[in-house]
Amino acid sequence: LKFKLEIPIKEDPVHNNFNHTRQIGKAKACFVILIRNGDLHEFRATMRQLEDRFNHKYNYPYVFLNDVPFTEEFKKFTRALTNAKIEYGLIPKKQWSVPDYIDTELLEERLEELEDDGVMYGGSLSYRHMCRYESGFFFRHKLLDKYDYYWRVEPGVQFYCNIDFDPFAYIRDHDIKYTFTVSLREYPETIPTLWKTVKEFIKKYPQYIEKDNLMEFISDDNGKTYNLCHFWSNFEIGDLNLWRSEAYLKFFDYLDRKGGFFYERWGDAPVHSIAAALFLKKHQVHFFNEIGYKHEPFMHCPREEKLQLKCHCDPNKNFDFDSYSCTGKFIDLVSKWKHEKFRG
Ligand code: GDP
Ligand code: MN
Repeated sequence: LKFKLEIPIKEDPVHNNFNHTRQIGKAKACFVILIRNGDLHEFRATMRQLEDRFNHKYNYPYVFLNDVPFTEEFKKFTRALTNAKIEYGLIPKKQWSVPDYIDTELLEERLEELEDDGVMYGGSLSYRHMCRYESGFFFRHKLLDKYDYYWRVEPGVQFYCNIDFDPFAYIRDHDIKYTFTVSLREYPETIPTLWKTVKEFIKKYPQYIEKDNLMEFISDDNGKTYNLCHFWSNFEIGDLNLWRSEAYLKFFDYLDRKGGFFYERWGDAPVHSIAAALFLKKHQVHFFNEIGYKHEPFMHCPREEKLQLKCHCDPNKNFDFDSYSCTGKFIDLVSKWKHEKFRG
């Protein structure tokens, strides 16, 4: 028996992906990945899962961002993993530098202090740039101008489930602006003065606070203190226009001027979460239960059998109802809010 195996020849993905195939997903959306060249191989595993579980059907574009130029190797290996369009962006130097209103001597002292206290990334300046960039600048990158929705992805995270729907279209069609898969409590040592600063902001700009907000999720005493609950921002699918809004730009600027991104170690997760809780309506924050996800060391794995059949995670290792998680609280609040709304 003689036969010839026909192997379709794909155009060389190595030197460009201008041969990328048509985008099928219809939302104005992209993946956003802030990443170092050295994270390439960890990211390849993540990208493989994201493509296999979701994006091969939709072909949403990728935007990679970096404070230094991407290497040819990085581009070659990421291009080889998708048919979607990829863009590689450089972060403007000014957005990854210590601003002139920061006292650099005091900063040095604080870095040492937090490092000695054993706080995670306590002594790292680059980590602070990362948190500040994710808090205040990623959505202003010119490569994102053409998009309304984004999905933040980090190297090494896992996607466990087939995603048989378009999350971007879902949030667009349901007026949702912010979504999460994992929530937890922040280390208080990283944000000693954050809540005080938030309260000052609320007092100064009451017009920006949404009446139908989610304060109950982040405070157990009507706003007096912060309960440390936040959405874990290494996963986010959201509306870029939330961050581009006047309210959020004012909020970020107010926090930034207080210096806490540098003198303390304010994370983008509590900053985003507090903003979402203050500026959005209750129905505009959504828990994506269907999206099985892990960023070490915490996993969200849907427990319902119907969902689990599309996944490969261990539902017994689900973090949702751990005492450090806030997801149980979120779910309870959502059902309470629905009830209240129903009863008027
Ligand atoms: P963790 O998740 O809080 O432990 O922090 P990561 O080390 O995962 O950093 C968060 C994200 O920012 C990841 O996507 C990293 O690749 C990225 N990142 C962290 N530091 C830098 C940096 O100095 N430069 C760049 N370009 N990306 C960074
Ligand atoms: Mn990470």
